[in-house]
Amino acid sequence: MKILITDEVAEEAMDLLKEKHEVKFQELRGEELANEIGKYDALMVRSGTKVTADIIERADNLKVIGRAGIGVDNIDVEAASRKGIYVVNSPGGSTRSVAELTIGHMLCLARHIPYADRSIREGKWEKKKLKGVELQGKKLGIIGFGRIGREVCRLALAMGMECMAYDPLLSDEEIKRGGAIPSSMEEILKNADFVTLHVPLIEKTRHMISTPQFEMMKKNAYIINCARGGIIDEDALYNALKNGRIAGAALDVYEEEPYTGKLRELDNVVFTPHLGASTKEGQIRAGVICAEQILKVLDGMEPEYWVNRKMMKG
Ligand code: NAD
Repeated sequence: MKILITDEVAEEAMDLLKEKHEVKFQELRGEELANEIGKYDALMVRSGTKVTADIIERADNLKVIGRAGIGVDNIDVEAASRKGIYVVNSPGGSTRSVAELTIGHMLCLARHIPYADRSIREGKWEKKKLKGVELQGKKLGIIGFGRIGREVCRLALAMGMECMAYDPLLSDEEIKRGGAIPSSMEEILKNADFVTLHVPLIEKTRHMISTPQFEMMKKNAYIINCARGGIIDEDALYNALKNGRIAGAALDVYEEEPYTGKLRELDNVVFTPHLGASTKEGQIRAGVICAEQILKVLDGMEPEYWVNRKMMKG
């Protein structure tokens, strides 16, 4: 069968697919992808390709869309389900990578590492201005205590942080087992020194952090978003930082990517260009797991990580 890959994925994943099928890699987008998709039985993407209803409408032979990673907000899952197309992903493949980046961001904020680097390049030596804080003993508020949230908690506990977690879909027992103190959103926002977001982007979580939430946070608190753009209201974040409502922010994801917005004016924001899952190890794991899911569907078997199982089975 014919498989199209439109975002760069690990070679190991491509090799696995090539053992049984014809595989083509081409970074097609929008209309170009819509024109080609009819020829293919499977499509594999990461977050760069938007698989819209228009594209799916023209995917007459498509049996499966594989997302090498977890977030499927770039795929119109409902449109795929209506057409009987499986959507599969690879949860877990990039968990450790995202968790480590989150800790990296936290250290950057606590010790002003990116600012200090820029300052030295500009010929300055701002030792006094750049006094930081330790992570040890600080309260970390984790919003969304799934795979990544729990891994962040494990790493943060190792550094002597105290972790609080909010996740309405989990019981207090499950949160305690993960090493965190079960907390409400409000408790986290009012008490945490660092707040980190690990929820999916869904209607409920869009702009879940906006002006009223920033108003509740401590003035010396930091916020980190390595989940999805749109969970934080970027205009509200800009105002909160500009007015000194919170101390700083670290962002890996944005409402619009590539990010070119006004938060770049502010010194107390740390940016990475959606690098959460971008590690050698994470890409291999995510790619191979996704390829295995695609192969299962093409072999007529039920995939393990079947995103639209409920929508297709009813
Ligand atoms: P997961 O499904 O294991 O965990 C998400 C958790 O969020 C679940 O436990 C769920 O109960 C909880 N949740 C849902 N709605 C909530 C709400 N309103 N309030 C609080 N909690 C809520 O997913 P994961 O593997 O931990 O990934 C988390 C997110 O990280 C993904 O959705 C994805 O968008 C993002 N991500 C980003 C990158 C990156 O490159 N930066 C890479 C991978 C994943």
